[in-house]
Amino acid sequence: MTRDELRELAAFQADESKGACAVSFYFQPEPSQDRSHRREAIVAKDVVKQALKSAGAQNKNGSLHADLDRVVDLAANLRGNARGRAVFACAAQNFWKEYGLPPHLHGTQIYLQQHFQLKPLAPLLGAQPALCVALVDRQRARFFDLRLDDLCERGAIVHLLSRSASSYGYKGFEGGHAERRVSEEALQHFKAAAERLRTDLEKGIWERLIVGCHDVSWPEFESQLHPYVRERLIGRFSADVASVSNEEISDHARTLVNRWITERGVKKVNEALDFAKSNGRGVSGLRRVLQALEAGEVQSIFLTENYSARAMECAHCGHLDAHLVAACAACGNPTRELADVCDAIIPIAIRRDIELFYLRERDGLDRAGNIAALLRFRSDQTTGQAVGAS
Ligand SMILES: [Zn+2]
Repeated sequence: MTRDELRELAAFQADESKGACAVSFYFQPEPSQDRSHRREAIVAKDVVKQALKSAGAQNKNGSLHADLDRVVDLAANLRGNARGRAVFACAAQNFWKEYGLPPHLHGTQIYLQQHFQLKPLAPLLGAQPALCVALVDRQRARFFDLRLDDLCERGAIVHLLSRSASSYGYKGFEGGHAERRVSEEALQHFKAAAERLRTDLEKGIWERLIVGCHDVSWPEFESQLHPYVRERLIGRFSADVASVSNEEISDHARTLVNRWITERGVKKVNEALDFAKSNGRGVSGLRRVLQALEAGEVQSIFLTENYSARAMECAHCGHLDAHLVAACAACGNPTRELADVCDAIIPIAIRRDIELFYLRERDGLDRAGNIAALLRFRSDQTTGQAVGAS
């Protein structure tokens, strides 16, 4: 799933006047003892039945039923699939999108709303960088893009080495000469691979890098990386380029990137909370975060896992209010209650490329109202200095 696809989902609105409904279905396979995987299909069917019941008489035009029937069919056919799956559908507006997901979302769920429900995706999406995974050995370099769970090979460089000295059985001067030639060829290859990484970074193809290579090759390859490229390096894993499978590449890369995101989230939330105390580039608590969001000041949002809060939304101007007021503070029109303010915050974050971090409670965020934000700038401060992203 790309950011553009995600933005499209965040922007989608079902036409209430036509009785249209946006169906968001998250399917989470369970480790199954039952080889037929029938249980998963039954769970999915139950979830859909419940959803239909609660939607009740609201939807008589049949398009919702068409979506739900299709979802049940899909669940029944996802046999033996270890990955999660998300479906976003609205038959009334001819919309149907399916995505594979990593297997660690919260269970099988369905939502029938005016907008697609993206909260289950948020922990995966907010802070995910555009990631390049480079696999390098002395004669090959393969470049992959990893977006969520999709690993896609973008290109490769191959420099077949001259046959090594030992394979000729040379001794003495001749052997040493051939060996030097092979090392020189390998060095040129590492240089070419490093150069490719630099130009791709400059073109904006990736933001963060993970390298897979043999431990013995790493110092030589690392020394060829441009300083800008090295700054973007998240981590390295040990791999044999010729034999590693795509699944192994994804697993290694995901482990490294998840650790990086967690560490980065903890570091940044501490910054935000410190800044919030000194009235600087940070705010905490729902009221202040919503204000900063409306002022366009927010760079990153931090939420504790399972954060949820009620809020009011103006149907006319979209103003969000942490106080349960009947009339919009901005334009005076009637407001409607949101059972969970995340339903409004997450699409805004996606549209504006604001990073979202979900953190565990131990990170000190609970004492700050379970929500905080790091700001790009503060519009109420006269210095008005914009501060670059870090
Ligand atoms: Zn309003």
